Amino acid sequence: MMRQYELVERVTRYNPDADEALLNKAYVYAMQKHGSQTRASGDPYFSHPLEVAAILTDLRLDDATIAVALLHDTIEDTDATRAEIDSLFGEEIGKLVEGLTKIKRLDLVSQKAKQAENFRKLLLAIADDVRVLLVKLADRLHNMRTLHHMPEHKRGRIAEETMEIYAPLAGRMGMHDMREELEDIAFHTLNPEAYETITDRLVDLRERNRDLILDIETTLTERLSERGMAALVKGREKRPYSIFRKMQRKAIGFEQLSDIYGFRVTVGTVEACYRVLGVIHTTWPTVPGRFKDYISTPKQNDYKSIHTTIVGPSRQRVELQIRTISMNRVAEYGIAAHALYKDGEFGGRNIARHTEDCRAFEWLRRTTELLAQGDTPEEFLENTKLELFHDQVFCFSPKGRLIALPRGATPIDFAYAVHTGIGNTCVGCKVNGKIMPLVTELHNGDEVEIIRSPAQTPPPAWEAIAVTGKARAAIRRATRESVRKQYGALGEHILKRAFARADKAYSEDLLEAILDLLHQASVADLLAAVGRGDLSAQLVLKSAHPDYQDERVALSGPPLEEGWFGLKQGHGLKFRIPPGEIDADKAAANANGEAEEGPALPIRGLSGDIPVTFAPDGGAVPGDRIVGILTPSEGLTIYPIQSPSLKEFDDQTERWVDVRWDIDVNNPERFPARLDISAANEPGSLATIAQVIGENSGNIDNVKMMQRASDFHQMIIDLEVWDLKHLNRIINQLRSKPNVSSVSRVNG
Ligand code: MN
Repeated sequence: MMRQYELVERVTRYNPDADEALLNKAYVYAMQKHGSQTRASGDPYFSHPLEVAAILTDLRLDDATIAVALLHDTIEDTDATRAEIDSLFGEEIGKLVEGLTKIKRLDLVSQKAKQAENFRKLLLAIADDVRVLLVKLADRLHNMRTLHHMPEHKRGRIAEETMEIYAPLAGRMGMHDMREELEDIAFHTLNPEAYETITDRLVDLRERNRDLILDIETTLTERLSERGMAALVKGREKRPYSIFRKMQRKAIGFEQLSDIYGFRVTVGTVEACYRVLGVIHTTWPTVPGRFKDYISTPKQNDYKSIHTTIVGPSRQRVELQIRTISMNRVAEYGIAAHALYKDGEFGGRNIARHTEDCRAFEWLRRTTELLAQGDTPEEFLENTKLELFHDQVFCFSPKGRLIALPRGATPIDFAYAVHTGIGNTCVGCKVNGKIMPLVTELHNGDEVEIIRSPAQTPPPAWEAIAVTGKARAAIRRATRESVRKQYGALGEHILKRAFARADKAYSEDLLEAILDLLHQASVADLLAAVGRGDLSAQLVLKSAHPDYQDERVALSGPPLEEGWFGLKQGHGLKFRIPPGEIDADKAAANANGEAEEGPALPIRGLSGDIPVTFAPDGGAVPGDRIVGILTPSEGLTIYPIQSPSLKEFDDQTERWVDVRWDIDVNNPERFPARLDISAANEPGSLATIAQVIGENSGNIDNVKMMQRASDFHQMIIDLEVWDLKHLNRIINQLRSKPNVSSVSRVNG
C-alpha cells in the first residue's frame, strides 16, 4: 500500500504548491474511518481510495480532487457525515464527496429503464463539477482492475455497465487511455473467448513482426533528424477490444485485419506536424482515403491530431498519428488535461473553472442543460452511441421527469409508465403542448402531458394500441374490473326491483345467506351473475324468501293495468309511469327535468355504473320524458316515454327504471332523433330541408326516401341534436317552409 508521504510526493512532483496538510489530513481521516474494513480481495479497504487517488495523480489533478478521491467512500461506507467533512475539509470538498455518494447508489441498479434515469442523474451530478466525474471514473477503473476478486455472478453486470456507460463517458470526455483500459477489462469479462483468441493472435503476430515496430521507429526518427526535426516516435499494438470492434464493424476476420500497429509522432509545434506528415508520405506508400486532419477540424471531445496510414516495410498497414505535446496531453487525459492546463499554465485549485472553455466540458454542460430543461436528449444519445438506448425513446413529463419507453410507444404507454392510476384515468394527451391523439407514436425528447378524468376507465381497445407490457396488463385488469362493476350495479338494480315488486325485504345480508345455495363466492359475484343474465332474479328472490309465492299468483289479484299510475297528458302524448317506486307527479317532474333530486337514476351520456344505451330508430333526446328498461347483460336502454316499443315491456314492470336526464348544458354530445317529413315534389325541396337542418347545426345521419308520389315525397331523416329544444327549433322551422307539408317525430 502506498505510504502517506509517497502520495504527497506524487502530487507535489507536478504541483509544488499543493496543500500538503490537506492531503495528509484526508489520508489519515479516510484510513481511520475505513479502519479494519476489507475489500473482496482481502486487502484493507483503504487501499481502494488510495489507489483511486493514485490514478488521479497520473492525470495530474489538483490537491482537492486527490483529497476527494481519498474520502470518496467515507459517507457511504463509514460513519462519516457530510457535516463532519465540511467542518474538517471545507464545503467544496464536502459537496464533491456527497455528489459521489449519490451517484454511487446508481451502480446498484441494473434495470435498463432505470439506467436511463440514472444516467441522467449521473450527468446532472457531474455537470455541477467535473471533478465528480473524474473521481468516479478513477473509482470505476480501480474497481475494474480488481474485478476478478468479485464473486463471478456480480462481474457481468459491473462489466456491462462499464461498457455501456463509463467507458463511453470516458471517451466522450477525451480520456482515451482510461476508456481503452475500461473497455479491455470489461471485454475480457463479458466475452472471455473472443478476448483470448485476439490476445493469442496478437502474441503470434508480435513474434512474426518482432522487428517491425523498431524498424519503423528508427527509420522515421532518422529521416526526421536528417531534416533537423526532433520528434518522439512511439509504436504500439492496438488494444484487444479496439481490434474486436473493428472486426465486428467491418465483418472481417483477424487475418484480414491489417492495421494492428499504431505509431504516435509527437513534436513541438503545429507547423512541425505538417512537416512530419510530408516526410512520412515521401518515405512510405500511403493508403488512400485514410488521411484525416483533426488539427484543422478537432473532434467534439477536443481531440486534435493528424492521422495517416502507410504500407509498412513488410506490407502491413500501419497507422500514424502526428500531434504536438499539448495535443497529446488532451488526447490522453481529455478533460483532465484541461482541468490542469490553460494556455500552458498550471490551473491550480480552480479546476472546475478552468475546464469551462474545453469542448468536452461544453458538451457535458450542454447535454445536462438540455436534460435539465426537459429538452431533446436525442443529440447526446446519438453522440454517446450508448447501444443500450438505441431501441428506446426518452420522453419527459411536464415537470421534467425522464421516462424511457420502447420505440413505438404511445402516450398511453407513457401514462402507465408514470403511474397505473394515471394510465387508468387518462382521457387525452398533449405532446409538446399540442393536443394529440392517444395513438401518436412518441419520439425522443417529446414532452408528454396526460389529461385525466377521474370518471374514466380505460377502453378495452387501448390494449391493442399500447406496446408496453405494463400498460397492456393494467388495461386488461381495469377492463375486467369495470365490466364486473357494471354487471354488479345492473344486477343490484334488477334484484332490488324484483324484491320491491314482490314486496319482500332486500339486503346484502339476505344475499350473503344464500351464496352457497346459489353457488356464488361473494355478493359481488352474485350481483354480477344477475347482471350478466346468468342467474335469474326470480331464483334469487325465491332463495332469499322461501315463503315467496310465484309471481303469477301474486299478480293474479288486481289486473296489471290497474297497478299502473294513471295515464297523463303531456304534449298530447300519453305516457306511463311504473308502479311502486315513485309517484306519478314526481316522475313527471323528473322526466321534465324539473326536480333537482329524486329516486330517479341520473343518466350521464353513456357513462355511469350501468351500461346505458339509447333505443334504436329514434331514441330519446335530453328534454324528452324518458324511461329505462333493464335488460340483463345489456344494461339500461333509454326510451322516450311516448315510444311505441314500450308496449313490449308492459308485463315486465320490474324491468322499468325511472330515469332522468343529467346532462351538462355545455355537453357537446349529440343524440339521435328521427323525423318523418312530407315535402312537395319540386326542385329544391330536399335542399331546403337540408339547409334548415344545417343552419340550425343539426347533423344529418341518414335520409331515406319512403314514397315518391308525383306531388309529394315522404322521407325519414335521422339526425343528431343536442336536446329537445334544439330538435323542436328544427321541426318548427321546417314546418314554416312552404314546400314542407308535414313534419313529425318518430320514436322507435
Ligand atoms: Mn469506491
